Amino acid sequence: MNDPNKEKTKSACDTCSSSTCSAAKPQAGENQKEFEERRQLLSRLCHIRHKIIVLSGKGGVGKSTVAVNLAAALMLAGKSVGLLDVDIHGPSIPTMLGLEDEIIQKDDDGMIPIELGDLKVMSIGFMLRNPDDAIIWRGPLKMGIIKQFLKDVSWGELDYLIIDSPPGTGDEPLSVCQLIGDLDGAIVVTTPQKVAAVDVRKSITFCRHLQVNILGVVENMSGFVCPKCGEVTPIFSTGGGKQIAESMHVPFLGSIPTDPKIGQASDSGQVFIHKYTESPTAEIMRQIIKPILGLDSDNLKP
Ligand code: ADP
Repeated sequence: MNDPNKEKTKSACDTCSSSTCSAAKPQAGENQKEFEERRQLLSRLCHIRHKIIVLSGKGGVGKSTVAVNLAAALMLAGKSVGLLDVDIHGPSIPTMLGLEDEIIQKDDDGMIPIELGDLKVMSIGFMLRNPDDAIIWRGPLKMGIIKQFLKDVSWGELDYLIIDSPPGTGDEPLSVCQLIGDLDGAIVVTTPQKVAAVDVRKSITFCRHLQVNILGVVENMSGFVCPKCGEVTPIFSTGGGKQIAESMHVPFLGSIPTDPKIGQASDSGQVFIHKYTESPTAEIMRQIIKPILGLDSDNLKP
């Protein structure tokens, strides 16, 4: 009997002539089912030129905000972009983009991302009937859901896929990095205070263990933009992210201030960099993405 999944995987990989691809043959210790699942995942992701994961040592530092605005900035720069939210405990992308009521459609090829202009969006939040579901799931169940989710989304051809990871350095971000495998690199988001230093060091060490290239550190909520005059006041200490980046010899991409307009845009389901494109904070974000845009022009990948 025909297994439709098997056929799909076969046809996607059959068009590829690469003999060095890790999907070409089973890995040591991998059974047939695991091999086919991995192959199915890789055959989806190989049509994406650049895959970038956004990490943070803990929640609430602006990881999703950076992921959304990075994806939108790349799209506004003319790239075809996918935004994948795998933050299983706090999938905030549907709210940030005003997509809470969307119902994901499926076709023979899998789940179809929601399209916002040239931005394709998929969130694990679309699969959680109740946002509290993930809290009570055991580890293996969570990993299974993350894996199935990654495997089932039909992205098509993309220049960039931006992945909003679960926070921290535990099993969940580990699984995401391992399953995606062929990442261009990670952006690590932190806040400027010294207490965040421990977390950002952990995230950098995590990437090094997994041999994930670190594209750079972003310091978010660095100073406060006065909504009246636009002046930026340092309310906490600043520069912590930059110091750590320097001391751990990774690039520093820039500092984004706390800007009330970012919160307003996100609460109303709009993308800050699109809505407030003329603002100084939007310009800071565009500077931050420059090295990421460079990945495509450098043609680091075929
Ligand atoms: P994380 O993904 O790390 O949990 P979020 O991106 O969801 O964090 O951000 C948490 C909250 O902080 C959101 O309400 C978001 O709008 C707000 N926020 C993030 N960065 C900024 C910023 N630079 N200025 C103002 N609000 C921000």
